[in-house]
Amino acid sequence: MSVNATVITCSKCSFLSSDGVTYGRFKYKTNDGLINLVPELAWCNVCQTLVPGEVIPNYCEVNKLKERLLQRNQDIEKEKSRLKEKQSIIEKLLLKPDSVMLQDLSITKDILQDSINEMENLKQYVDTNRKPRCLECGSHEILYLPSLSYEEVPIPIGMKHPGCGGEFLAAVSPIRFFIKYKERVYTTDGIECEVVITNNCPDDTVV
Ligand SMILES: [Zn+2]
Ligand SMILES: [Zn+2]
Repeated sequence: MSVNATVITCSKCSFLSSDGVTYGRFKYKTNDGLINLVPELAWCNVCQTLVPGEVIPNYCEVNKLKERLLQRNQDIEKEKSRLKEKQSIIEKLLLKPDSVMLQDLSITKDILQDSINEMENLKQYVDTNRKPRCLECGSHEILYLPSLSYEEVPIPIGMKHPGCGGEFLAAVSPIRFFIKYKERVYTTDGIECEVVITNNCPDDTVV
């Protein structure tokens, strides 16, 4: 599988990383088998770089996702009415396919809905009162990055590079990265206990 990664740089130093650190499959090992863990891009004060950050399925995090879903539904309705105004009667009769934007919005809406369901399900396995961990070193010293926009030119993301003071900038890389399916397994306390690299995609390289 290949994807476009978002590259993160700093306005003041030569820092370089990408949201590719959150790619791969992250799972909790539970009595009911492996359950999806959806990480968020974060800065770790111990690793001193960008890492996959654990997200605890508590009320606040679930609500954040629900707000994003609400926003997405509003975006979809807005796009639908914009299309309606634009379409001529003939186009309506020909049942023109939805716009690409509408399709993309619908896909991200489905992903959000899946994430909400997964998070609700996770509540029975993960202590929702504990602090989230860095999924690289296990420390609690993480700061989530603000959501990234998808521009090709580097734009400030509204967060400073800790310890440096420069602005973090994000830009979508024109290069597509190949991902090897690396499955990382964690205890429900957020400690890594197993890494499985599957070889069913021989052409892919590990990010
Ligand atoms: Zn910097
Ligand atoms: Zn760390």
